[in-house]
Amino acid sequence: MLELLWLLLPVAAFSGWVIGRRERTSPPRDDDREFSSDYFQGINYLLNEEPDKAIEVFTRMVEVDSDTVETHLALGNLFRRRGEVDRAIRIHQNLIARPSLSPSQRGYALLELGEDYMRAGLFDRAESLFNEAVDLDMHAGAALENLLDIYQQEKEWEQAVKAGQQLEQRTGRAMGATIAQFICEQAEDALSREAVAEARQHIRRALQVDPNCVRASMLLGDLERREGNYRAALKAYQRVKHQDIAYMPEVLERLVHCYRGLGQTGEAVRYLRRVQREYRAVSITIVLTDLIQEQDGDKAAMDFISAQLRERPSIRGLKRLIELNVSDSDPDQRRQRDLQVLRELFDALLRERPGYLCRSCGFSGKALHWQCPSCKAWATIKPVKGLEGE
Ligand SMILES: [Zn+2]
Repeated sequence: MLELLWLLLPVAAFSGWVIGRRERTSPPRDDDREFSSDYFQGINYLLNEEPDKAIEVFTRMVEVDSDTVETHLALGNLFRRRGEVDRAIRIHQNLIARPSLSPSQRGYALLELGEDYMRAGLFDRAESLFNEAVDLDMHAGAALENLLDIYQQEKEWEQAVKAGQQLEQRTGRAMGATIAQFICEQAEDALSREAVAEARQHIRRALQVDPNCVRASMLLGDLERREGNYRAALKAYQRVKHQDIAYMPEVLERLVHCYRGLGQTGEAVRYLRRVQREYRAVSITIVLTDLIQEQDGDKAAMDFISAQLRERPSIRGLKRLIELNVSDSDPDQRRQRDLQVLRELFDALLRERPGYLCRSCGFSGKALHWQCPSCKAWATIKPVKGLEGE
């Protein structure tokens, strides 16, 4: 099916249909030219998934009638998609060199050549072509999308920010959340260089661009915690609850660490109980159980987690309850052995479980990535919620 789709792309380009992808407008056509029967034969071959024959026909057409812009565009596109990037580049270069091209045709050919260069890994050349398309205001949306791709791959975050802003201005698509991620990348980069003041500036900017940027709050919390500013760190971590409560499990340990630093463990319990009323995540129950055990002993912790489990059963909660019951001083050896077996069983069950899920493409994994490794979307991976995970 996919194979058929890419074969259809040049066809769509030909017919002047609007290709939905990247809101590229329909490619230009020579209005004074009638399409020949060869042309339709070529399309037929494409539809029948016979790209070799299609290429043969289009190549012949290009030889006979070298003026047909559409044929060149289709042929170049076909070659690129088949991985024959050199041939695609030659065709598109040839096209651009023509003085007779209309501005729209020129913009489209620039875009195609840029995509050839991208495919060939020649990012510098691709970048200058896409910039030229943006300057000409021809297919600027598609060109900016490609520029965004390049800057992300090259980790040129400030350039990515600018391209994102331009894309938002020109297409009206909301880019704030993505731009904030680019700025967070800059903040992390600054932190890795120990440039704390610079990191602070980036974080502040990210929160201005996207006040709901969880990552910026977490970065700020981590930074303040590292500097020993527990009060400020707490404030940053607590903001996550209002930005996107699904990320709350990520900051629980850090919150507790700050409360401890301030000597306010009791306040941690009160705060987490309040959070729990809004968001029933197992990880909150577990952290609360640990704190209650520490403050009031095993019996209180067991009572607490048992009540929680009756309300909302979970494997992680059960495992914690078993751990509380495992004891060296228990005279009932057999019961202890059973508990050990159960604990190992739950351990094995939990080990197989992905902790994180991309809400956009379904990718799952054991680590939190801010950019999905599969679909490349930003801030779509969140802790798994429900009986299975959180
Ligand atoms: Zn994804």
